[in-house]
Amino acid sequence: MKTLKQQMATLEGLRRKISLVQVIGQRIDLKKTASALGTYKGLCPFHDDKTPSLLVHRKKQIFHCFGCGVGGDLFGWTMRYHRLTFPEAVAWVRRQSR
Ligand SMILES: [Zn+2]
Repeated sequence: MKTLKQQMATLEGLRRKISLVQVIGQRIDLKKTASALGTYKGLCPFHDDKTPSLLVHRKKQIFHCFGCGVGGDLFGWTMRYHRLTFPEAVAWVRRQSR
């Protein structure tokens, strides 16, 4: 049984190792914005999006939608997109990282 600290370190490791831009980019079309912050945007899959409202920060590894207000990190995306619980999302991400 892993301690909570070890589990947190594992999550942090996955969060660092896996590019959120790549993960989201596999599902929706992301375009790099002109912003120096290294952001990408695309059509949000969580609401009826007509103009790209979903923003992904490459460095911060987070996403945010200006249309419907959803946002989060790698695990938040995975839970929402694949309709998983948090532990399921962690397992899903783990499989991707192999
Ligand atoms: Zn949205």
